Amino acid sequence: MKKFFNEFKKFAVKGNAIDLAVGVVIGAAFGKITSSLVSDIITPLLSPMLGKVDFAGLNFNFFGATVNYGLFIDALIEFIIIALAIFIVIKQINRLKDKEEKAIPATKNCQFCHSSIHLEAIKCPNCTSNLAESKQS
Ligand SMILES: [Zn+2]
Repeated sequence: MKKFFNEFKKFAVKGNAIDLAVGVVIGAAFGKITSSLVSDIITPLLSPMLGKVDFAGLNFNFFGATVNYGLFIDALIEFIIIALAIFIVIKQINRLKDKEEKAIPATKNCQFCHSSIHLEAIKCPNCTSNLAESKQS
């Protein structure tokens, strides 16, 4: 039983469980924001152009059954906004990552033996050439 709890602890603490939980909580909060954005801001803004007051109120009768296609349109708009927002966020994160990686190269190549050495090195550890005078290049 103790082993079981230890395994669970490992899973909960060391695994991605916490990251996942944070993602789910933020996702839920983000979902509320997007649905509010759609139902309270975007739909009312689109309505005058389309000549309808509210997508959510759109429906028609099909042999006695009510088809709420307005709610489906709302869900579609919400999905597009979420997908777009996530795409923009990920694009931004990737750009920052690229910048970080480009800004701090950890190594350079020795100009004498062409082996990879520390960026700050003034003497090559492989061929013992003095690199101090070629540091600026
Ligand atoms: Zn070298």
